[in-house]
Amino acid sequence: MKLTDVCVNLTNSQLRGDVEAVIQRAKAAGVERMLITATDIESTKAALLLCCGGQRYCTAGVHPHGASNYDKETITSLKKLVGKDDVRAVGETGLDFNRNFSPVDAQLAAFESQIEIAQACNKTLFVHDRESQGEVLRILKNATAKIPLPPVIIHCFTGSREELRQYLANDYYIGITGWIADTRRGAELREMVADIPLDRLLIETDAPFLRPHNVPKDFLQQHNLPATMKRRNEPALLPFVLAAIGACRNEALDEIAAATENNAARLFGFT
Ligand SMILES: [Zn+2]
Repeated sequence: MKLTDVCVNLTNSQLRGDVEAVIQRAKAAGVERMLITATDIESTKAALLLCCGGQRYCTAGVHPHGASNYDKETITSLKKLVGKDDVRAVGETGLDFNRNFSPVDAQLAAFESQIEIAQACNKTLFVHDRESQGEVLRILKNATAKIPLPPVIIHCFTGSREELRQYLANDYYIGITGWIADTRRGAELREMVADIPLDRLLIETDAPFLRPHNVPKDFLQQHNLPATMKRRNEPALLPFVLAAIGACRNEALDEIAAATENNAARLFGFT
């Protein structure tokens, strides 16, 4: 089974010093392609250096956490960066009202600006929505009223059933992380993941965050993997996200894998 991890924070300090080994372990686990997600201009530039045609591509964008630093200079840099061939999506952008590391107004302005950039370059929009209470949807719909949107991914979906219904009604893609393997926090998601049509589903680790809870305790020992993997998530653990989705949907894993591969290829222009 070939898999694509559509969200790897490979430039994050937890993975940065270990990139080659992380990539090799991912390949050994069948994760042959990944989208390296950027969170600001610097990490976009760093992600570009880690791209490798056919295997690794990246996003260009500013995460809502960093929205307070989003200024005219950022816009100029982003407009240049999104033109690079290895950049296959604009983001992570969106809203995070769970942490509010940046003020709401700054988050809204940065999100709207990045939607415009995605519309202009017609690259997939990679959206982070954490407890936006419908604001992400409202802003996306406002933007569509003016110019059609490129394909939209709601990554690491953790919202309500109603939000899922509305996202799907607008034809957005839904990214599922290891959150699904958390029987407590992910209980609602585990029930509704079966409602996502296969042609709208994506799988992701969001590594080094959100280590799936269904990784067996002796997994590292069994596969002779380093202890560093005990603390963090890695793209090599993507098959556990797939397994949790398969169990919740009662569906064959190779079917889900094939569908999510097709979706990733279509969204990011993989050939
Ligand atoms: Zn995110």
